[in-house]
Amino acid sequence: MSRTILVVEDEPTVLETLAYNLEQDGYRVVTATDGRVGIQRFREESPDLVILDLMLPEISGTEVCRIIRQESAVPILMLTAKDSEIDKVVGLELGADDYVTKPFGLRELQARIHALFRRSEARLTVPAPPVVDLGPVQVDLAGHRLLRDGESLPVRPKAFELLAFLIRHPGQVFNREQLLEHVWGYAYAGETRTVDVHVHSLRNLVEDDPAEPRYLHTVRGVGYVFRRPS
Ligand code: CA
Repeated sequence: MSRTILVVEDEPTVLETLAYNLEQDGYRVVTATDGRVGIQRFREESPDLVILDLMLPEISGTEVCRIIRQESAVPILMLTAKDSEIDKVVGLELGADDYVTKPFGLRELQARIHALFRRSEARLTVPAPPVVDLGPVQVDLAGHRLLRDGESLPVRPKAFELLAFLIRHPGQVFNREQLLEHVWGYAYAGETRTVDVHVHSLRNLVEDDPAEPRYLHTVRGVGYVFRRPS
């Protein structure tokens, strides 16, 4: 059975090009041209992946993303019109899994889609690992949750995956390109600050003092490493 992708995009040429190429790739494509219909279609079709434009009529892409994320863990790929919007996407607690900036190449988009599907499948097939105790915060690797006193902490899916990856490789130093490659599934020059933004938000969640991290250490001139305090 082919996977269904929901594309929510108000620019007809972008929508048509995307739909055409995704269908050529063997996906079933459902479309919407505004946020309100996008949410309707999402509920009717239960797609396997959502491609969501940031600037939409009726209900904005950010709001659509938030609503979908409340209802589902479906992979969400955001489309942004300009580089300056990326900060918005990454900075807001939107819950989107990835983004591309317009104009984008179809091959780049395909690579992102494949990576998102690979990861959502890996998530389903990995046997339940233990809960890792980081002082006051517990990392539930199987449940993709951060817990403090039994309460779930809000964490973006990508930030969680980054934390889980570093925890699974304790003491191993990774540079930003390697982390992009392992966690995001690609490594494009110039996007490495995404890693910094996510490490910053993780420190705010798991460290008592984010300025003096006990677990998520910066290795100057190299990258990041997870270490337990000795
Ligand atoms: Ca738009």
